[in-house]
Amino acid sequence: AEDDAVRTKAKDLVDYWRQALRKRKSSGDLSQPALKRGLSSSLSLCSEALAGKDLAASQDSQPPASQGSAEGPALARADSLLSLGQESFDASGAPKGPVDAYRTKVQEKLAEAFGKAEDIETKEGSEGGEEQMRDPVELSVEIDEALHSVFPKKDEYLAQARSVLYNLKDKKNPTFRFKVLVGFFKPSQVPKLTAEDMASIEKSNERAKQRKYAMEEIQADWALKHGQLNLTGMFTCGKCKGTKTTYFQMQTRSSDEPMTTFVSCLTCNNRWKFC
Ligand SMILES: [Zn+2]
Repeated sequence: AEDDAVRTKAKDLVDYWRQALRKRKSSGDLSQPALKRGLSSSLSLCSEALAGKDLAASQDSQPPASQGSAEGPALARADSLLSLGQESFDASGAPKGPVDAYRTKVQEKLAEAFGKAEDIETKEGSEGGEEQMRDPVELSVEIDEALHSVFPKKDEYLAQARSVLYNLKDKKNPTFRFKVLVGFFKPSQVPKLTAEDMASIEKSNERAKQRKYAMEEIQADWALKHGQLNLTGMFTCGKCKGTKTTYFQMQTRSSDEPMTTFVSCLTCNNRWKFC
């Protein structure tokens, strides 16, 4: 199943780059080095997401190299192209135009669901508390672009967008929102998330394991039996002193550093983290 995921991801990337390549060719300022560089950095993102899975298969299917060796500005353009994703060209390959109304609407709803930008409180005594949650508006645009590049058709786009929005707004599932805000789920992953990925803690643990961010075995077993990693008594909320909490862990610093634990209070929705 993991190999399928790699294949799908690789195929998406390759499709995207083929399309970009065609556009570059037809606009006559193709820079081969820039595209190659862009592709390899996409692939490294991909490999990071998949925790070092073998990417030989996807590298084999690199788009054919083409002529042209314009340097300079093309490099910068290719980089911005990469960060913009498929947004630069619409589904029919026409140059970028205004975003469709339904996408603007989804961006607004996503931003609304994320709420305002905020710092994550770091529990006293831990180090390295500089990261901030992502800006909700930027995040919403990135998610829209990721959705649009995977689902150019309006109905498919909207089906996934609805599912994402439902889970973001689900009061019983504060963790999903938290995970997207801190980058546990990246915007590029959002189009592929199933309802189960978004809702279920078992699935999260499975992912965490695949990414080598495993929780202790015992906690994973506990989560499997109880269906949700809601712990009473393990953490105490600084705001309401409640002890019903749910948490997940993520590597936010270099891999030899301990993981950061993100905790949500199930009583008052306060959130904090510690290292
Ligand atoms: Zn609380």
